[in-house]
Amino acid sequence: MYNVKSMKADEFIDDGEILATLKYAQENKDNRELIESIIEKAEDCKGLSHREASVLLACENEELNEKMYALAKKIKQRIYGNRIVFFAPLYLSNYCINSCVYCPYHVKNKTICRKKLTQDEIKAETIALQDMGHKRLALEAGEDPINNPLEYILECIDTIYSIKHKNGAIRRVNVNIAATTVENYKKLKDAGIGTYILFQETYNRKNYEELHPAGPKSDYEYHTEAHDRAMQGGIDDVGLGVLFGLGTYAYELCGLLMHAEHLEAVFGVGPHTISVPRICPAEDIDVNDFSNALPDKIWQKLVAIIRIAVPYTGMIVSTRENEENRRIALELGISQISGASKTSVGGYANPDDETENTAQFDRSDTRTLDEVADWLIRMGYIPSFCTACYREGRTGDRFMSLAKSGAIGNCCQPNALMTLKEYLIDYASETTRKHGEELIEKELLNIPNEKVRQITIDNLKKIENDERDFRF
Ligand code: SF4
Ligand code: SF4
Repeated sequence: MYNVKSMKADEFIDDGEILATLKYAQENKDNRELIESIIEKAEDCKGLSHREASVLLACENEELNEKMYALAKKIKQRIYGNRIVFFAPLYLSNYCINSCVYCPYHVKNKTICRKKLTQDEIKAETIALQDMGHKRLALEAGEDPINNPLEYILECIDTIYSIKHKNGAIRRVNVNIAATTVENYKKLKDAGIGTYILFQETYNRKNYEELHPAGPKSDYEYHTEAHDRAMQGGIDDVGLGVLFGLGTYAYELCGLLMHAEHLEAVFGVGPHTISVPRICPAEDIDVNDFSNALPDKIWQKLVAIIRIAVPYTGMIVSTRENEENRRIALELGISQISGASKTSVGGYANPDDETENTAQFDRSDTRTLDEVADWLIRMGYIPSFCTACYREGRTGDRFMSLAKSGAIGNCCQPNALMTLKEYLIDYASETTRKHGEELIEKELLNIPNEKVRQITIDNLKKIENDERDFRF
């Protein structure tokens, strides 16, 4: 029985409720009046229920779909402004005892090279990332209690935060590791992580069990209830995501939104981020084996609808997507992207060596960070290396209230300009620097509060004089 506040996975992601929602959506997909009223309601940036969002997803009327896309863009602009935050994944280890059939790290894959970074190698990776200009990382590791126990992850976090190379620093470490216990989440919290990210992969229990035939991850409940345990362990910023293509997309969207509603209902804090990966080729993985693999158009529509339905959330797109898809997704509400990612273990410090055969997936966007930054600037976005919120204690419900009201933009805008300035001076090519300086001049005018604008201008001058790390 569906119960948004239940702590049982089968009740807050109730299969019956999802099927009833999909039926309702199909019955109303041509109901113009209803669809227009849902779009109108969404204009207030208060979000939509899973039922309302599912009706929008089912709508095939192009004119109404165009309205949704325009609204998604407007909502992202209203809440987060022009900034696009950068992050990079850092793969610590690809040892894994799970059997996820869509991932080359699955335990039965004997052709992939297994590698786990030593602390010296982590140091080299961190310096390589700092030398590109990155400030925010997402740590990735397979599940393996012998090779990658929590103590190893904690040690890696300590190492990463301790490294200060030239003007570089990793200021926020997000963590994407397997579902674990409340005790372990407390330890991650104490280690100073930003967001704990865990993808559900698929919300369809039957699919889930087929795709995860063995290993600890095969326990659907334990996996689905992990964000609750993370919250109970004190991590108040958690990230959701599904791997689109594993199940039918309408089912996944509905499950994802029900999960967001559950977090909000129980903890008063919805997902800090939602990621939108879809199945893509990798060593030992053929996309053609997945009959639900998504066409671009549908994926883009999902991006827009998630933005409309969960306006306050940070929406993330990775380098799984190519440049053109990333460009379109930015128009539809994406607020965070990775740049110059390596999905191999040790790939930043040793880009061309044997690490290539340790990768989790093939990247479609292989541009350098500088190229991606310049590309964003030329499209009028502000590349941002901001990590201010969690360092200022703006997490959980504090962050949510600012994001929901749109007040967070008052911090995002100046922080984006100041961190971009650092990037331009420390790491950018001459062309990017020129474009970036012009953008900063222009975007300063978009800081509405005069006092904040003046402080930002002063700080920009200090950055020119080699001071660093200003934030609102
Ligand atoms: Fe292991 Fe994660 Fe890959 Fe599954 S998706 S095989 S848990 S690394
Ligand atoms: Fe993100 Fe907060 Fe910085 Fe805005 S101010 S970019 S929400 S960390």
